[in-house]
Amino acid sequence: MTDTIDHPKETHAFQAEVSRLLHLMVHSVYSNRDIFLRELVSNAADACEKLRYLALETPSLVGEDGDLAITVAVDPEAHTLTVADNGIGMTRDELVENLGTIAKSGTKAFLEAVGEGQSKSSNLIGQFGVGFYSAFMVATRVVVTSRRAGTDQAWTWISNGIDGYEVTPADVADAPARGTVIRLELNEESRAYAEKATVERIVETYSAHVPVPVRFVEPGKEAENLSDGSALWAKPKSEITPEAYKEFYGNVSGQWDEPALTLHYRAEGRHEYSVLLFVPSMKPFDLFDPARKGHLKLYVRRVFIADDVDLLPHWLRFARGVVDSEDLPLNLSREMLQHNPVLEAIRKNVTTRLLSELAKTAENDADAFGKIWDAFGPVLKEGLYEDADRRDELFAISRFKTTASGEGTRSLKDYVGALKENQTKIYYILADDLARAEARPHLEGFRARGVEVLLLTDPVDAFWVRTALGFDGKPFQSVTQGAADLDAIPAGDDAEKPSEAEASAAVDLIAELKRVLGEEVSDVRSSARLASSPACLVAPEFGPDKQFEKIMARHQGATPFAKPVLEINPHHALVKAIAARLGSDAALVEDAAHLLIGQARIADGDTPTDPADWSRRLNRVLEKALSA
Ligand code: ADP
Repeated sequence: MTDTIDHPKETHAFQAEVSRLLHLMVHSVYSNRDIFLRELVSNAADACEKLRYLALETPSLVGEDGDLAITVAVDPEAHTLTVADNGIGMTRDELVENLGTIAKSGTKAFLEAVGEGQSKSSNLIGQFGVGFYSAFMVATRVVVTSRRAGTDQAWTWISNGIDGYEVTPADVADAPARGTVIRLELNEESRAYAEKATVERIVETYSAHVPVPVRFVEPGKEAENLSDGSALWAKPKSEITPEAYKEFYGNVSGQWDEPALTLHYRAEGRHEYSVLLFVPSMKPFDLFDPARKGHLKLYVRRVFIADDVDLLPHWLRFARGVVDSEDLPLNLSREMLQHNPVLEAIRKNVTTRLLSELAKTAENDADAFGKIWDAFGPVLKEGLYEDADRRDELFAISRFKTTASGEGTRSLKDYVGALKENQTKIYYILADDLARAEARPHLEGFRARGVEVLLLTDPVDAFWVRTALGFDGKPFQSVTQGAADLDAIPAGDDAEKPSEAEASAAVDLIAELKRVLGEEVSDVRSSARLASSPACLVAPEFGPDKQFEKIMARHQGATPFAKPVLEINPHHALVKAIAARLGSDAALVEDAAHLLIGQARIADGDTPTDPADWSRRLNRVLEKALSA
């Protein structure tokens, strides 16, 4: 159908985000404009791979022209650069949908991550794929002509990158038989991109390992091959340079940071397949996307099949790369991909290999592993909760901030190796961040005895720590929950212990506090957990930790909190002073009781249950003290 009367020229405005993105790119990434070509070549390669995949079912889509390739053509006189592919192509609607809106979640996330005018943005654009729009960094006008495989109408999309775009039916003479031609009319500063040396250099740097051949054409000369489209993962390791790995990583992940870890191997035996995967050093933007999708690409005998198959558990979703199977049939249906025993076996093996590679790094290069853990520890810890079978492997690489870790981190092995006499548990505290964790009064008694406590500050910690049975036979125990059972662990020599008189005064005080506080607490008791604070609140023995309740309340609305236990420090001067007033000043003791529990809440980052009442009591006591 070439009837232009049915399809008059249509002019569209860009979505608001597109204009913002364009503005950002053009104005902040002047230094690395080269990346536009990398983005266009990568789109062209994707288009060829999509066609290859669809043609498995519908061979007629490829027909005679089965030689899929990308052609970069320049015209130094006309100042144009063209990137063409004979891949899947786009219909009119796809042109509008794909090039007129920001389809890609990464691009949106990118915009959210960089506020306008932030200097970080130039660096980020270099490291993340921002796609087609980067063409406007170098072009005053971009003309895209595309014909979707299997259709007979081609369409042209034209834009100057500022005002919006036009879509018109393409001239038959200009239209490719299939696929997409993207012509850039280069702006003045970008004319070097119409030179062979520049194109060669960029393709060599960024695109030499895309799995589709790249050719170069200039007027009056024969086409040359810039890259042969051979699969890097199929080559022997000894033939691959670190630069080639890095560049392939960039192509496969759309991220251009240094990979923190590279794993390349070929599995032989019951199933044959090649694996080339990477752990990024930078967190991908969608790391905490609720879908928790992985991004490994599945190939079957060098043919791209899908990039949304779960080839790794969710908690390894940060890995990027390729799995290429020799045994799977090419015409895999979606359903077959879901429950395929070969894929299951691959998944299991790749998981084991990646975990053991991480363990090796942790063992041999603590610094490198520390960076990986910083970026992906919170994701790996999801596995502690979800995958009981992998828990031991994950515990082996898990690293923690603790009350003894200083600047570094500690492993559970380190922790267990440093247990105190009579210590039978691994103690932890849950909090929103390190500062808050370290400020909790609950730690005082542990510090006084030199007992190490894990400081757990990732939301996921509240989950795994409840379900994991322990490590090396030692159960995990929250220091804000249950009895502290610290009495068996000897305190330092200079630690003062409550005298008998203090202890018996505490018994009466505890009875009075229970009476005054009534329903507000489930119990009041004296505690070895405290040293310099007079009181703290802990969760009852059997029930959720308070931090866990807080997280659940945040996500699911308020849930009733289990009534806490108030613990007092019988050795503390304030506690002793209150005890001394028992029987002589009932009103003051009652105020003090409420002030004690209120300040314990404040130390936990909460507010007193009835702040107005609490302030009145505080004022009354202060006034009395100051006017005495
Ligand atoms: P991304 O490729 O990261 O999704 P882009 O902005 O580069 O983002 O491209 C948007 C979409 O446009 C692509 O997802 C793809 O569907 C389509 N597209 C871009 N270039 C081509 C091409 N050469 N052939 C077919 N489709 C393309």
